[in-house]
Amino acid sequence: MDTSLDIYTLTDYHVTMKQKRAYKYRFYPTDEQKLILARTFGCCRYIYNWALRQKTDAYYQEQRRLYYKDLSEALTQLKKREETIWLSEVSSVPLQQALRYLDRAFLNFFEGRAEYPTFKKKRNQQSATYTDNAFKWDAHKLLLAKMDEPLNIVWSRPLPDGAKLSSVTITKDCADRYFVSILIEEDIEELPTTRSTIGADLGLKSFVVLSDGQVVGNPKFFHQDEKKLARAQRNHAKKQRGSRNRNKARKKVARIHARIADRRRDFSHKLSTRLIRENQTICIESLAVKNMVKNPHLSKAISNVSWSEFVSQLEYKAAWYGRTLVKIDKWYPSSKRCFECGHILASLALDIREWTCPECGAHHDRDINAAKNILAVGLTVTACGESVRPGAVKAKPGTARRSRKASR
Ligand SMILES: [Zn+2]
Repeated sequence: MDTSLDIYTLTDYHVTMKQKRAYKYRFYPTDEQKLILARTFGCCRYIYNWALRQKTDAYYQEQRRLYYKDLSEALTQLKKREETIWLSEVSSVPLQQALRYLDRAFLNFFEGRAEYPTFKKKRNQQSATYTDNAFKWDAHKLLLAKMDEPLNIVWSRPLPDGAKLSSVTITKDCADRYFVSILIEEDIEELPTTRSTIGADLGLKSFVVLSDGQVVGNPKFFHQDEKKLARAQRNHAKKQRGSRNRNKARKKVARIHARIADRRRDFSHKLSTRLIRENQTICIESLAVKNMVKNPHLSKAISNVSWSEFVSQLEYKAAWYGRTLVKIDKWYPSSKRCFECGHILASLALDIREWTCPECGAHHDRDINAAKNILAVGLTVTACGESVRPGAVKAKPGTARRSRKASR
């Protein structure tokens, strides 16, 4: 599936009946477009990093918060200075948008959803966003500011008829592939209500375990991909720093990463769509809680990315289709609690997959029991009318708590 909704559009969905939805396509730039884009990405990165430095300095040196307005004015001055005059060679819109993304990154930080923003690097994925005053769209062709030719887009699925484009984001990933993500406003019809509810435990061994006993994933390709990636990474590490072969090896690692991300996103889209279609309420543990089980392994790092992507898909699809997603964001003994009688074990080692309750004798699969508990506590939370705001994760991993989590 090609759709993906970028995280920064998530907050818009409660505002109007219309929903914002992103359609993502691959495109092949001409040499000239590559040059223009490379320059634009560079300027966006420069502005983002410059503004991050300004904000951080203002805060540490003067305990003052800088906002978009302040930085936007400073940017206008910056473009007039001789040493940064090259900033005025690219469209000004993506630069303004870079400031907006930084604002969003800080908001996410202050509301506990993300770490403190970090500097953008040339090696990572590059992006630039154009709002509607910086592109032309005639229902067939998309022309960006400063370009002479429209983008050569592979329309893998049609845009809805009469779509009104609100913004266009160009990305170049680490494997040097170009994508255009088109954000449009559209009416999305809610799904007919159903009585089904489900709890999902994001597993360590399998991708997701559901409260009705279904075990989903890990697909075999996850494992195969990881082995391939580990091999490519070892190969990369052996090459001499700064050599051409090292750069080649780095590109290879990036291509495998990109492929893993694509396959997992596709898998996760299918699963999240199915769960949203089949259930009225979906209960999951928030990742902040889940992540307290720290594991330095590569596979775990990839799982974390896939899980957070899966959770955000559930979030925006629930909003589109009128479903409820309950994120349990407080510490709750989902694995150690017997679903049948409520008995709570003193500890349960991570490698124990099955256990028998000493109180009532019920035999449990670790993850299915956890998923049932998650569903039960999730339904209680919604019944009590406690608001469960999408994206709000209150429980931050703290060192004091982590030791307690390790036995869950
Ligand atoms: Zn029991």
